[in-house]
Amino acid sequence: MTSTVPPTRAHHKARALKPGRPRPAKELCSECGLCDTHYIHYVKEACAFLNQQFPDLEAQTHGRSRDLESEDDWYFGVHEEMFAARKREPIAGAQWTGIVSTIACEMLTQGQVEGVVCVQNQPRDRFQPMPIIARTPEEILAARVNKPTLSPNLSVLEQVEQSGMKRLLVIGVGCQIQALRAVEKELGLEKLYVLGTPCVDNVTRAGLQKFLETTSKSPETVVHYEFMQDFRVHFKHEDGSIETVPFFGLNTKELKDVFAPSCLSCFDYVNGLADLVVGYMGAPFGWQWLVVRNERGRELLASARDQLEMQPVNSQGDRHQAVQQSIPAYEAGVTLPMWAARLMGVIIEKIGPKGLEYARFSIDSHFTRNYLYVQRQHPEKLAAHVPEFAKRIVGQYKLPENQ
Ligand code: FAD
Ligand code: SF4
Repeated sequence: MTSTVPPTRAHHKARALKPGRPRPAKELCSECGLCDTHYIHYVKEACAFLNQQFPDLEAQTHGRSRDLESEDDWYFGVHEEMFAARKREPIAGAQWTGIVSTIACEMLTQGQVEGVVCVQNQPRDRFQPMPIIARTPEEILAARVNKPTLSPNLSVLEQVEQSGMKRLLVIGVGCQIQALRAVEKELGLEKLYVLGTPCVDNVTRAGLQKFLETTSKSPETVVHYEFMQDFRVHFKHEDGSIETVPFFGLNTKELKDVFAPSCLSCFDYVNGLADLVVGYMGAPFGWQWLVVRNERGRELLASARDQLEMQPVNSQGDRHQAVQQSIPAYEAGVTLPMWAARLMGVIIEKIGPKGLEYARFSIDSHFTRNYLYVQRQHPEKLAAHVPEFAKRIVGQYKLPENQ
């Protein structure tokens, strides 16, 4: 398949798919929103689940693809710099300290962009996504905090074209950004900035309900949750209280089918095609993790740098044994009794991987699981769909099928 799309405007004749109609990627569709627009014209080339094209899109976006001799590139993608950072004055109600919302507000108020694609929630459901093009800081701030569900962020792309905007910032997760990069030249923009977050284990709205009901003591009052670097899920409730559940106490058997098939076949955890990535997993507990991939990423960071406290990233421990042991445990759906899970959590927090090594631990665990998923459910896709960097990561471990 071709790597990039020639600028033809032929998409104007294409028809968006109606809600509920099957998507071209079928059960692997992540509902990124592209097929809700006439850019569906490019879906065969652009869809992250129909056409894996990391090397070409990385070269188009960053000027080079990943150096396969560099382990750092396998894991974190093309990058110039990484930092740990946090806002001196955190934004109340943000997922972490609100670096994403702050950068977006600054880019808008400093006049670098005319609009920001981000995702608010539906009025009656805090977790149901509602993508918008924000044109004021208030609209950006109303989109703060994760909507931990598949979100059709690209469904607003036709509105971008109709608005005549020339300078745009898009906030999004890996599958959305892969499709965006593939149609970027068709959008008629003079400048596109992409502020990405890492993303893993996303769910449909129904899947989220099952996760909350299986894992939290009070599912209806959860306002926000995160799988933290201390090997616990932290649920924040409406009254401000925090409930923690150790990873090792999760009901793996019940939760195995909760994650969306798109996320079980994704190898873009670190959002390799964004200009700047803001996550947490490569940073110390309480800090955010920033990956600057290119010059536009530097501009994004510069817009808010004076509001950030920053420190270098570090790395501690060795993840390999823990990852290897987790593979058969996950396969068997092992769930520890809560007292043992809590004890294990305390021990592993003391001696387990930290900083970038924690990020590698999480990437290895998810990539081995996802590789097995694709190998079993879509064997015909395995060779082309799994990018070379992911094959190298997975190749460090013994998998049940390969023993
Ligand atoms: P805020 O200022 O609160 O802004 C959050 C932004 O995220 C908003 O602008 C909003 O538009 C956007 N957003 C919210 N939900 C979605 C969505 N479903 N799709 C696209 N955009 C959305 N980081 C890691 O390091 N490791 C992880 O495993 C990880 N998993 C994630 C899973 C999901 C589903 C998501 C959405 C994010 C994940 N992140 C992960 C990123 C992390 O949780 C924070 O979003 C990030 O650090 C930014 O925090 P903040 O306080 O700066 O964001
Ligand atoms: Fe279309 Fe996006 Fe689904 Fe692919 S993931 S089929 S591009 S909506």
